[in-house]
Amino acid sequence: MQYKPVIGLEIHVGLNTRTKMFCDSLNNPDEKRPNWNICPVCMGHPGTLPVTNMEAVNKVIRTGLAMNCAIARNTFFERKNYFYPDLPKGYQISQYQKPLCEHGALAIKSGKKIRITRIHLEEDAGRLYHEGDASLVDYNRAGTPLMELVTEPDLENGQEVRDFATELQLILRYLGVSDADMEKGLMRVEVNISLTKADDSYGTKVEIKNLNSISAAAASVDYEIKRQEELLEKREKVVQETRGWDDVKKVSVSQRLKEEAHDYRYFPEPDLPPLHFEESDIETLRAGLPELPSQRRERFSRQYNLPDADIQVFTVNKPLGNFYEHVATEILGYARETSPTSELGEDPKLCKLAANYAITEYQKHVAGMGVDAEHTKITPESFAELVRYIADKTISSSAAQTMLEEMFRTGLSAEHIIKEKDLGQVSDTRALESIVDAVISANQKAAEDYKKGKEASLKFLVGMAMRESKGKGNPQMLEEIIRRKLGP
Ligand code: ADP
Ligand code: MG
Repeated sequence: MQYKPVIGLEIHVGLNTRTKMFCDSLNNPDEKRPNWNICPVCMGHPGTLPVTNMEAVNKVIRTGLAMNCAIARNTFFERKNYFYPDLPKGYQISQYQKPLCEHGALAIKSGKKIRITRIHLEEDAGRLYHEGDASLVDYNRAGTPLMELVTEPDLENGQEVRDFATELQLILRYLGVSDADMEKGLMRVEVNISLTKADDSYGTKVEIKNLNSISAAAASVDYEIKRQEELLEKREKVVQETRGWDDVKKVSVSQRLKEEAHDYRYFPEPDLPPLHFEESDIETLRAGLPELPSQRRERFSRQYNLPDADIQVFTVNKPLGNFYEHVATEILGYARETSPTSELGEDPKLCKLAANYAITEYQKHVAGMGVDAEHTKITPESFAELVRYIADKTISSSAAQTMLEEMFRTGLSAEHIIKEKDLGQVSDTRALESIVDAVISANQKAAEDYKKGKEASLKFLVGMAMRESKGKGNPQMLEEIIRRKLGP
C-alpha cells in the first residue's frame, strides 16, 4: 500500500460514582426526569464551592494502573473556559497540564501494544434536545465525572480500533469504574485519522465524532481511509476538519472545518485544593486491582488448557467463566483423587468437554432465565458429574439434554436424576446383541442391502436398534455389533 493510515483515539468515559464530580447531586445516567439531579453547585450559582469526589479520582487512577500508566504524585484541576448552553458555569473543570495518568499501554488481541498518552479527569456537560423550533436543556449530566483517555497514533485500521475499544470496555467493566455502554453515551469514541507516506511526515488529520457503537467506529475508520486515499490519488488535499458518521448510509460527512485553535484560557481552578498522593496511596490502589482480562486469559489457558475462543467467552461473560472455573476445579480434583499417579490423564479432555457444554447447552438455558450463570440451581459439582457421565458414555448426548433441563428445573444432582428417570445408556453388550438380532431378523432387506455395500442401510439399522432400545442404546456400540454380525 502506498499510504500508511495513522490513527489515534480520544475516548470519554462516564464514571459510575454515586454522586457528581464536585457536588452531592446524584450521578444517575438512567434518570429520565429532566433537571432532577441538579443543585446550586453543578448549576454554577455564584458563591457556591466545588468539593472533589475522591471516588472518581481513585477510579481514574485504578484505570491508569491497569494500563501501566505513571500516576501523578502532584496534580491539580484547571478551568477550561468556553460558552455553550449545556455548560452552566461557562467553564469546565478539567485537567490540562498534568493529567492523573500518563505513558501507559494497552495490548490488543494481535499482541500489538497501543500506547496511552494520558488519562485525565473532568466534568461532563448537560444535554441539549431539539424539538421543533425549541431547544431544551437537561442538566442531569452536567458535572458528572468524565474520564478522558487519549492514545498515541499507534492504530492502523478499523479492526485495531475495534479490538482496542472492545478490550478497553472490558477492562473498565472488570475494574467496575463504568458500564462503558456506548449506546447510553457512557463511552464515547472519537477517531483521529490521517494518511502518511511511509517515509513522509504526518498527513492532514481528520477527526470523526458521533460514533455510537464500536462497530460504527471501526467502519468509519475503514471508510475514511478509503476516502482519504482516493483524494490523495487524485492529488487533491485532505482538509483538516471534524466529520460525523452516518450509521445508516455508512459514510462520514463533514460537520465543521477545524476552526482557529480555540483559546480556552486554561488556569488552575482556584476553588479546589491541588491533589497530592503518597507512593503508598498509589500502591494501595494497585494492590486493590482485580484480576484483569489479560491475566484471566493467561490463567485459563495455563490451568485448563482451553482454546482461545473458549477462553474469550469465559473472559467476556464473567459469571459463566466463574461457573466454569468451579466445574473445572471439581473435574481436576476428582481426577487427582481417583488416579493420583497420572498427573494429567483424561482431565484436559474433560475440561474441554465441560467448556463445550457450559458455553453451548448450559448457556442456552441461562440466557432465557434472567439470572446470572454463576447462580443457577445447578451446582458445579453436579455439572461436573454430568460431564463425567457424558464422557464415559453412561448417558447419551440426547439424555444429557434431558438431564440438564431437569437439573435446571429441580436443582437435583445428576446422579439422582439418572436413577429416577432411568436415563442411563445401555452399554451392556449382551443386551445390545439381542436387540440387534431382533432388528436384523425384522429387517432382512436392509441387512442384505448393507452386505451389498449400501452404507445408508447401516444407518437405518442403527436407527431401528436405537428405537428398539427406547433411545438408551449406546449408538457407537450398536453400530459396531451390526457391522460385526453382517460383516464379511
Ligand atoms: P488535537 O490538539 O488536535 O486534539 P492531539 O495532539 O491532542 O491533537 O491529539 C489528539 C489525538 O489525535 C490523539 O489520539 C493522537 O494520537 C491523534 N493524532 C495526533 N496526530 C495524528 C495524526 N497525524 N494522524 C492521526 N491521529 C493523530
Ligand atoms: Mg485534543
